[in-house]
Amino acid sequence: MSATSKNPVPPAGGLPAKDGVTAQKAAVSVEFFPPKNEAGAAQMLATAEALRGRGIAFASVTCGAGGAAREHTLEYSALLQKAGYAVVPHLTCVGYSGEELVALADRVLDAGFAGVMALRGDPPKGETCFATRPDGLAHASELVELIRERERLRGAGRRLRIGVAGYPEKHPESPDEATDLRWLAHKVSRGADLVVTQLFFDNAVYFRFAARCAAAGICAPLTPGILPALSLAQARKFGAFGGAALPSELERRMLACGGDAEAERRVGVAWAHEQVRELLAGGAPGFHLYILNRAESALELFDLLATDDKTV
Ligand code: FAD
Repeated sequence: MSATSKNPVPPAGGLPAKDGVTAQKAAVSVEFFPPKNEAGAAQMLATAEALRGRGIAFASVTCGAGGAAREHTLEYSALLQKAGYAVVPHLTCVGYSGEELVALADRVLDAGFAGVMALRGDPPKGETCFATRPDGLAHASELVELIRERERLRGAGRRLRIGVAGYPEKHPESPDEATDLRWLAHKVSRGADLVVTQLFFDNAVYFRFAARCAAAGICAPLTPGILPALSLAQARKFGAFGGAALPSELERRMLACGGDAEAERRVGVAWAHEQVRELLAGGAPGFHLYILNRAESALELFDLLATDDKTV
């Protein structure tokens, strides 16, 4: 059985179908998170080294929901940039005043990063709701506006590429898909260049989302976010957190591993491979890998895709 629905809704406008699998032509990006300690930093940099030369269009670096970790986003972004990557740091509104966000946007512009992911952000650990500071921003769309305004005021020589988040299975706080899509369209209209999606395991939800975005006039490329799950427990956990349904077939394959961690990881890679093949063949502009600072599964996936390219 395929990693996806047998009858995915064909992609609509803005996502021309391609012939065969075209991993080599697809825009591939990978997502790092700022490590918490020296061992984590060494692992992250080793991963960056291992993935170099694999045609990665950009590496993004997440922004923690609070505390000291989020201060490291720009530091690690600069390190990856030095290592030769086009880097896209994430910037969130959580806990920052408007003034602080202006300063951060200016730092991003000055550093010459390839782009920025403009996000509202998740509530800090222990909090369930996003609380807007009275002098802060409430939504990612406002952050997109702020960055574009700083670009204009500072007469930046180039237009920064701004990415925003999209939710094929609806943002958990949204009352319904239509409302969520309206706000996504608004966010893009404020100056975003691309949408990177929340992870999903069932391609049918991406193709449906792409069709709804096209119908809503959202023309920005919709880059699917893919997690090569390391284990059943991780797939369940991340799926529950991000609202991604876990297909019964993926669960069955994981359960068939009988608790063998390495076998589960390989199932995760095989599933991601099937997903990416079908997404690219269906017109997705590329894919964004949630690599969790680890190289192994990403490298295996790239090798599988390279083999596909040679055989089509
Ligand atoms: P928004 O676009 O502001 O949307 C939040 C909610 O408000 C949605 O329900 C939306 O429908 C609604 N909405 C949007 N605009 C308006 C408006 N103007 N008025 C009323 N309602 C509105 N989190 C982190 O903390 N750090 C990260 O680095 C990070 N990286 C991510 C990367 C990707 C690719 C993705 C998909 C998510 C990431 N997240 C990250 C998670 C994200 O911050 C959360 O999902 C957060 O809850 C929403 O962020 P947003 O940017 O989508 O917010």
